[in-house]
Amino acid sequence: MKKLLLLALAAMVTIQMSAQRIVKGAIEDAPQHESYHPTYSSDGSERKPLNVILMIGDGTGLAQIASGLFANGGDLTYANLKHMGWVTTQSADNFTTDSAASGTAYSTGQKTYNNAVGVDMLKRPIENIPEVIAKEGFISGVVSTDDLNGATPACFFAHQPNRRMTDEIWADLPSSVLRYFAAGSKDVFEQRPEATRAAVEKTFTVVNSLDDPRCATADRLGVLPPKVETGYIVDGRTDFLPKATRQAIDFLNARKEAGKGFFLMVEGARIDKACHANQYESAVRELLDFDQAIAEAIKFADQDGNTLVVISADHETGGLVIWGGDPEEGDMEGVYVSGSHTPIPVPIFSYGPHAQDFMGVQGNEQVAQKILKLFSR
Ligand SMILES: [Zn+2]
Repeated sequence: MKKLLLLALAAMVTIQMSAQRIVKGAIEDAPQHESYHPTYSSDGSERKPLNVILMIGDGTGLAQIASGLFANGGDLTYANLKHMGWVTTQSADNFTTDSAASGTAYSTGQKTYNNAVGVDMLKRPIENIPEVIAKEGFISGVVSTDDLNGATPACFFAHQPNRRMTDEIWADLPSSVLRYFAAGSKDVFEQRPEATRAAVEKTFTVVNSLDDPRCATADRLGVLPPKVETGYIVDGRTDFLPKATRQAIDFLNARKEAGKGFFLMVEGARIDKACHANQYESAVRELLDFDQAIAEAIKFADQDGNTLVVISADHETGGLVIWGGDPEEGDMEGVYVSGSHTPIPVPIFSYGPHAQDFMGVQGNEQVAQKILKLFSR
């Protein structure tokens, strides 16, 4: 009987092992872009930056970045940065975080439970970076290829006990301190209750294109393009992310108070989504696009000299491994062992004044704590 039980147990383990996912993917002739080579003139200096740009590649672990690096012939703006470290991403209630808990850690400096948007373990609102620094006269913005109510962008303006409370998250927007947002989408916004839409439009000039002339004149701006313009690159998105990043920087820089600065969060959201679906080509193309948004931030940091850029991820997605490739041809092969998030630490890169603060190994909540410290005067 005992032997039978053991045999049954062994069979179960085998079945479970074989049920584990091994999904191969490949990209051939990846579209190439030239990286931006920084001047390094402000990199690692000791003076406090006036502006901080936090860039979150959702689901972006080492293999996602390295896939992009090799697919782009060994050249990425990421790879031109000198300050780097690790971020551990565990949430307060789970070894493997979701984007909401990690987004809250990045936006508030506090760990919380999976699904929480800007609230603590007792579901009480926690002040986010934009709210804290607004009291000191600093302004903030958010850019994402996800819907604005997606967990990562939502953590920078909303406080709700669950990321699925889409209407409640949108309803938090008019009372937020954001001066600028660009994210998905016109369609999602139009599905919200009329009272929410009216309140958002009373607070923000809402446009549906980065090219709308009101983008230059608005005091508080919301850009909500049609769905295809913030969707996957493989489904037709073009240069929304780098372009919105540049527009957000210019918008905030032109409206900041004298002697003060701004905070901007930029999310490359679809690296995560492509990895959940184990779509390797899509993930690599999203990474290459995110690298071009990084270039816009680093270029501005060089022009400005008082801007810190911090680039990391909320967690890794897919358990991605690089399987093979030919960088000279832009060909890469990857293997996913999961369709979910993994608990492995993610890389962090930084550039500009105090970039050195983000070297070594740190928790995601510590990244926000360090940013908040740099804003305290
Ligand atoms: Zn995810």
